[in-house]
Amino acid sequence: MREKIVAGNWKMNNTMEEGLKLTSEVVHMVEDESINQVKVILATPFIHLSNVSKLIQGVDNVYLAAQNCNEHKSGAYTGEISAAMLKSIGAEFVILGHSERREYFNESNQLLKERTDTVLNEGLRPIFCCGESLEIREAETHESFVCQQLTESLFHLDADSFSKVVIAYEPIWAIGTGKTASSEQAQEMHAAIRTHIAQKYGQEVANEIVILYGGSCKPSNASEIFAGKDVDGGLIGGASLKSRDFVDIIKSF
Ligand code: PEP
Repeated sequence: MREKIVAGNWKMNNTMEEGLKLTSEVVHMVEDESINQVKVILATPFIHLSNVSKLIQGVDNVYLAAQNCNEHKSGAYTGEISAAMLKSIGAEFVILGHSERREYFNESNQLLKERTDTVLNEGLRPIFCCGESLEIREAETHESFVCQQLTESLFHLDADSFSKVVIAYEPIWAIGTGKTASSEQAQEMHAAIRTHIAQKYGQEVANEIVILYGGSCKPSNASEIFAGKDVDGGLIGGASLKSRDFVDIIKSF
């Protein structure tokens, strides 16, 4: 049985007070509504991590993620955050290569390869984002584009390290646009990703890799998307900012 994961990516939203309120609400709902078969991950802005970490302590299935991490171990990189710092405050996951970071901060497959290594070396698990633009989807080259992202950033890993990676397939045209991929489109891409992984690492490893869908996922469409046999959960942006919506998505399995 593969893990099921729903991760909320707050992006650059929430003051400290708002973030802690949202966390408390999510924790209470997860506990009160006996949600225990899905790993819930909160990917907060850096400054919230430490306080959110305290609020989720002792809650079995709620985990903490950063939204990014520098590729260097430590040193003179003003304004940056290292994997060791994230680990020291209780983060267990790090989102890498979100399309907003690829686009606005020029993150390349090569840079993400280095960040993946840094995160894994610190014992943290990357949530590695991949996905195509509308232009690429319309040119029908989305499968090879996404497979290339995975090959260039992840396929240098040995099978043991690769098994720790969570993949998030996020078609860029569906992020924050209200335009969701259909459940067929999501399942088709997830299956293609799993096949690509199987060709490199074998079917057994591929069967265990968690592949999340991201892009305008909400309570009204989550169960249909999550029903895909290769869809193991979601990376949720906008809807993760409202506790009820986020928890309803978690309950969509
Ligand atoms: C995201 O940013 O990872 C995302 C999926 O955003 P949204 O759910 O808002 O489309």
